[in-house]
Formats: sequence, structure tokens, C-alpha cells
Amino acid sequence: MVTNDPQPFFPDGEPFHIAGVHSAELILKGKNRPFFEKILMKNLRLAISRLGGISEVQQTMGKFLLPLAPGTALDDYRHMLSRIPGVETFFFAHRLPHDLAQLKTFLRRLAAGMDKVPFAIRTRRSYKPFPMNSVEINRELGAVLVAEGWPVDLNRPQRAFHVDVLKDSLLLYSDLFRGCGGLPVGSSGKVVSLLSGGIDSPVAARLLYNRGCRVTYVHYHNQTMDACGVRNKIHRIVAFLQAYQPPSRLYMVPFQHLQKAIVSFCPARERMILYRRVMFRIAQRVADKEDALGFVTGDSIGQVASQTLENLRTIYSVARLPVFTPLIGMNKQQVVDLARHYGTYDISILPYSDCCTFMLARRPETHGRVERMREVEENIDLETLEQEAFHDAEIITF
Ligand code: ATP
Ligand code: MG
Repeated sequence: MVTNDPQPFFPDGEPFHIAGVHSAELILKGKNRPFFEKILMKNLRLAISRLGGISEVQQTMGKFLLPLAPGTALDDYRHMLSRIPGVETFFFAHRLPHDLAQLKTFLRRLAAGMDKVPFAIRTRRSYKPFPMNSVEINRELGAVLVAEGWPVDLNRPQRAFHVDVLKDSLLLYSDLFRGCGGLPVGSSGKVVSLLSGGIDSPVAARLLYNRGCRVTYVHYHNQTMDACGVRNKIHRIVAFLQAYQPPSRLYMVPFQHLQKAIVSFCPARERMILYRRVMFRIAQRVADKEDALGFVTGDSIGQVASQTLENLRTIYSVARLPVFTPLIGMNKQQVVDLARHYGTYDISILPYSDCCTFMLARRPETHGRVERMREVEENIDLETLEQEAFHDAEIITF
């Protein structure tokens, strides 16, 4: 039984020795499976070392086993494992020697604190020389609980006890926790996230992590507007999102000169479209430098004036790489729910000054056209200003 229960059964006084990870989607990947598994293994090691744990990860029977140091805070591990892309389910297991009598005694003690619900024993034997097969182990252990008054239900048990027979030990575990699934970060190439300080763009980036992408971030800021607040907020978002991928970069691009220049020649109604075209051209420079294969934004059709389909076409047309918009068909509530789910919401709602609101019209253009924007852009040497902004970007590694 897979649980999202925040308080699963952790018996007092019986420490867990191992955390185990299943990676179901990877199983579908046929011959490429070792490639995906190697990356997941690396990411697990990295995450454990960031927690200060033991970073040797073993792989066996389509599972990854992570030894837990004595006194490990299980909640830290649960938090971590539920957020690593590629982890489908995970569990915490007790490790015992190859001794069935000891296993029976242990199971009896463990089960003593639990509700006597319909149960099943599920054994998997990867170590074939073990003197009993899985059916025999299921029967022997099942009999222990039946004697204690537990009803058996092999088809739809409310609690399953799993036994894995490994070469050097037996693992016993029950609760399975749900991970976020998907593919391990690093298995699908890199994208550049256009990250604002709002709710949407961090969720969009997070969704691409789940498809195995690495993410480099670009944020445009107007240094005259609450520079410190913006920096703190953007750094917090990136640090949070970054926790489970290898080090990556954030480009903090100064936008003040460009905005001033744009305000001087571009009608207020069209400024937002132009700001965003400029953002994409600078992001393209970042993508070239970072060898990225696409962009990701938090756009959703019609959410605000800059996101009408016509405006999006006019904005995205300056990008030379595909623009991925995982939120494109969602409404705000759906995005908010995802932001809560992924834990970005609380940071996203901190107050900050959004550079995009600088000198805009009350009724912005919603039918932006590429030809018209090209005409507007001819008024000034934007390329030089874009190059300078890119050159002056502060690059921070997380
Ligand atoms: P959120 O603020 O996350 O996206 P929003 O609804 O406020 O969503 P807009 O401000 O219109 O959306 O911006 C749309 C998209 O443009 C953002 O999702 C983001 O990808 C990009 N963007 C906007 N402002 C910035 C910025 N200052 N730096 C980088 N990207 C930005
Ligand atoms: Mg925004």
C-alpha cells in the first residue's frame, strides 16, 4: 500500500537501517535503463551528501538501497526522497541477518504495535542460494501473524509486509511512500528558465526537472527597484529548486538601461511585449553559452495581457530554440495547487518588485504583431544594449 500519510508507522525503538527507492518509470526504458539508473544513483548520492548522510548507494533487484546512519532524521530523508525526480516509491527497512527465527521474532514485535488489519507477506528473493523460496517464507511469516489474530488477505491487503532476501541480509519493510516519479535530472538535456519572482515560473521549471531536464535560470531585474528584496527572493527560489540537481547557474541580468531606453521610444501599450522579446533575445545568449536545448516559461494562455496567443507568438518568435510552457493550459488555481505541492508557493508569495510592471499602460496591447514589433525595434540599437546587459549579468552558482 502506497501512502502519503504524513504520520506513517515508525515503531519506537526499532531503528531503520536502510532507505529503499523504486524507480518504476525507468523500468520502461529498455536498453537505456542503465543510463537512467546511473544518473538517478548519482543524484541520490548527491542529495544524501547534502543531508550529511552516508552516500554509498547499492543497487539490487531494480531498487536502490541507501544505508541510514544511526540517529538519522527520517523526516529529512522522507522530504528529500519525495522530491527527487525519478523516485517512484520509497520505503524504510529493517535489516536482519539470514536467520528466519530472528526475522519471525522481529516481525512479531514490530506488528504488536499495529492495527490487526487484513495483511499479506510479500517476499522477493534475489539471493537464490537462500535455503527457502519466497512462497515458503511467506507461509512461515504469515503464520506468525495469524497466530497473533491478524486476518490474511492476499489479494487486497490493507498492510503488506515486504521481505527482500539479499545476499548478505534480509530486509523487512511495510509502508511505501510516493515519490514524485518522472525521470532523473540530467537524463534529458538542459533548458533555460525565464524565472520571474511569481508563482508560475518556478512551477514550470520544477515540472521540467521531473522530465529529467537540467535547468539554468535567468532573471531580469531593474536594479533601482528594491534590489535587495528581489535578490533575496530569487536566490531563495533558485536555492530551493536547485536542491536536487547538480550545481547550476543563475544569471541575474540588469534590465534598467534597457527599460529606460524602451520607455523612451516604445508606446506604453506595447512595452510589455517588447520587454519580453528583449528578455528572450538575452536568454538566447545564455542558452548558447550554456548549450541549452530550449526555454521554459510560466506562461498560460490568456492569464494576463502579455499571454494572449497573439502576443505569445510575437514574443516567442525571437527565440531560436523551442519554448516549453508546461502550464499553458492551466488556470491559476491549478498552478497554485502545484506550487503548494512542490513547496515553492511560500517563497513565491513573498513581496518583491517585479521589473515587468515598469511604466506600463493600463490597457496593454493584446494583438501584438511580429512586423509591428520589428518596426518599433528599428528605432534604437537594441542589440548593443542587449549585449551589454548580458555581459553585465551576475552569474551565481547554486
Ligand atoms: P510568474 O510571475 O511566475 O510567472 P506571471 O503570471 O506573473 O507569472 P508574467 O509576469 O506575465 O507572468 O510573465 C510571464 C513569464 O515571463 C513568466 O512566467 C516568466 O517565465 C517570464 N518572466 C516574466 N518576468 C520575468 C523576469 N523579470 N525575469 C525572467 N523571466 C520573466
Ligand atoms: Mg510574474
